[in-house]
This record gives sequence, structure tokens and C-alpha cells, in this order.
Amino acid sequence: MYIGCHLSIAKGFESAVKEAISIGANTFQFFTRNPRGGSARAADPQDYAKAAELMQANRFGPLLAHAPYTMNLAAADPKVFDFAKRSFKEDLERMEAFPATLYNFHPGSHVGQGVEKGIELISGIINETLTGNETTTLLLETMSGKGSEVGFTFEQLREIIDRVNYQEKMGVCLDTCHIFSAGYDYIHQLDQVLEEFDKIIGLDRLKAIHFNDSMTPFNEKKDRHEKLGKGLIGLEPLIRFIEHPVIRPLPILLETPNEPEGYAEEIALIKGRMGV
Ligand code: FE
Ligand code: FE
Ligand code: ZN
Repeated sequence: MYIGCHLSIAKGFESAVKEAISIGANTFQFFTRNPRGGSARAADPQDYAKAAELMQANRFGPLLAHAPYTMNLAAADPKVFDFAKRSFKEDLERMEAFPATLYNFHPGSHVGQGVEKGIELISGIINETLTGNETTTLLLETMSGKGSEVGFTFEQLREIIDRVNYQEKMGVCLDTCHIFSAGYDYIHQLDQVLEEFDKIIGLDRLKAIHFNDSMTPFNEKKDRHEKLGKGLIGLEPLIRFIEHPVIRPLPILLETPNEPEGYAEEIALIKGRMGV
């Protein structure tokens, strides 16, 4: 299995890969830039080449790059919208330096403009930006529905994908905290939830899992990650989720509130339960 967590690449890529290995991970997620915004550091090809060698030797799965939270592709404010458009384009160009890395982003928040308008703006930027020559796959993250987030139902994600010209570039990253908060009851109806995902989006588009427990109750449309087994989902339903044959082969990324030591413990716990 491919299991990892969110790590910083502030000290370079090779250093992040070493850190991942030291905590028992064979994949990880990193921010493309400061999560609260700002500009991206130029990628260092030499550093990445060393990292790639190390990843290959340790049989790493695909990595995830996460776009900054401030990138709102459905913004109403022209300045925010413009920043999002620029960040998105820059990020996608930058992704070419990290071959085979998946690009995960929050679809956007419509800030009162309505879900339909949000979907139109999000798919509009994607269409303006994608050239079809990208080597990465774009992952729309399943959202919790807090505030005016777009993408907290499978139907909304499907609608975005439907409007994209280069649909072969589009995938989905499922966040176990977010879909619980959005009201998908996989604690009691795991097969039905996955069947629904398959019917509406298609399981072939599911490329990665964000693996988190939830601090807030089912269907509350909040977004508060908790450590595995310490939240309102609980360890058993979470393990059952990743044990499912359609989920098992995917990269599983922890975004639980942890320091590296805490991540190491959770990774060991998961590997123990999964028998790897
Ligand atoms: Fe996210
Ligand atoms: Fe997430
Ligand atoms: Zn979240």
C-alpha cells in the first residue's frame, strides 16, 4: 500500500523524501507554495533528481501536490479571482518539474454567487488554463460544504468535470473527513457510498485519499480534521474504508493534526492493521 502524510518541502525535495522514509511513508503530500498564498519557490532540478532516485529505490507511490487554500477559482472579487487564475497556471507549469505527481485543489467557494455560478467559474478557469499537454492529473478534492464551498456532493464534482474540455486530465481526491462532514454515511453504508461515487463520477477517476478523522459530527458541513480514532468517525470505519478493494491501491495521505512523530505512529498503526 501507499501511505504517507502531509510534509513540508521547505528544505528541498530530497530532504522531504528522507523525512517520509524515516516515518515509514512511501508517498507524501506537499504544498505547491505557502498555503496561505504567496509565490512559489523555483523547483531545483538537481534536488528533484536525487529525490526521484530515492523514491524509486524505496518503491514510492505517486505524490500529491496541494494548491494553496487561498486559491479560489470561484471568487467574486476580481483581485482574488485573478490571483487564483495566475496561481493555477503557475502551479500547473511548475508541476512539470515533478513528473507523475498529482495536483490536488479545492474546487472553490462561490461566496454567495451560487453553486451553479461557482461551477461555471471553476470549469472556466480550468478550460482557459489546460493545454492538454500536461503530464499531471488534476484532482478535485471532495469538500465538506463549509461556508460556500463548491464540490461537497459527487454531483457537483461531476458537473465540473462534465464542463472541462480535457476530461482525461481530471480526477478526484476523496477526503474521509470532508465526505463525512458533507453527509456521506460510509460508517454504515460503505458499499452504497462507493457505488454512488461510481455511478455519478466513476471510480476510475478516484486517484487519492486524504485520510482524516473528524472533530465535528456527521453532516455538519464543517471541516475540522482529527487524529485517527480520536474523532467522531472512529478508527474502525476508517480502516474498513481503506481496506475496501477499490481504495486499497490508492495513495493514502494523512492530514491529521500531527507533528512527524504523530504521523509515524499513525502510519505504523495503519500498516499494522493492513498487514503490511
Ligand atoms: Fe485540501
Ligand atoms: Fe483534504
Ligand atoms: Zn479539510
